[in-house]
Amino acid sequence: MSEMLQEVRALLDGPGGRQYLGEQVSVAVHMLQAAGLARAAGAADHLVVAALLHDVGHILPPAPGEAPDTGADDRHDARGAGWLSRWFGPEVTEPVRLHVAAKRYLCTVDPRYLTVLSEASVESLRRQGGPMSPAEIAGFEGSPHHGAAVAVRRWDDEAKDPDRPAPDFSQFAAALRAVAPGA
Ligand code: FE
Repeated sequence: MSEMLQEVRALLDGPGGRQYLGEQVSVAVHMLQAAGLARAAGAADHLVVAALLHDVGHILPPAPGEAPDTGADDRHDARGAGWLSRWFGPEVTEPVRLHVAAKRYLCTVDPRYLTVLSEASVESLRRQGGPMSPAEIAGFEGSPHHGAAVAVRRWDDEAKDPDRPAPDFSQFAAALRAVAPGA
C-alpha cells in the first residue's frame, strides 16, 4: 500500500472515529458517506476523492503550538487542503479548501439551502463568516473550482445519516491512486 493510502487510512481508522461535532455519525463515517454519495452520483474520481477527504483537516494531528481540533474551528478547510497538496493537485485540494466557502455561498444564493443544513452546521455558519457579501460571491464564482466545491458541499450536507451504511475505505483505493499517480 502506498504511503498516501496508509496515512489516509490511519487517520480515518484512528482520529476519524471521533464523533462529528453535533452530528450522529463519526467524522470517518461522514467522510465515507460523502464519497459514497459522490460515486452514486456518477462523479469523476477527483470529486469522489475530494468528497472523501473534505474534512481531513478535522482529524489531522495538531501542528506544533496549535490546539487540537475540536470540530468547532473554521480553519479545517485550509489545513486539509494544505495537507492534501503533498499528493493531490488542485482538482482535489481546491474543492476541499472551498467547501466551507461553498456553504456560505449556497446560504446566500439559494434560499432553500438553509433548510437542508444540520443544526450544528447552521450554528457553525456564524463562526465561519455567515452569508457572503456581493464581492465575496464574485470572488468565489471566479474560482474555476467553485462548481466542484458546491458539488462536494451538497454531498457533505447529506452525509450525516446514522442509518445510511458507510462504504468501506477499500472501495476508494483505486480512485485515490488514480488521482495521486505519484503517491
Ligand atoms: Fe463535512
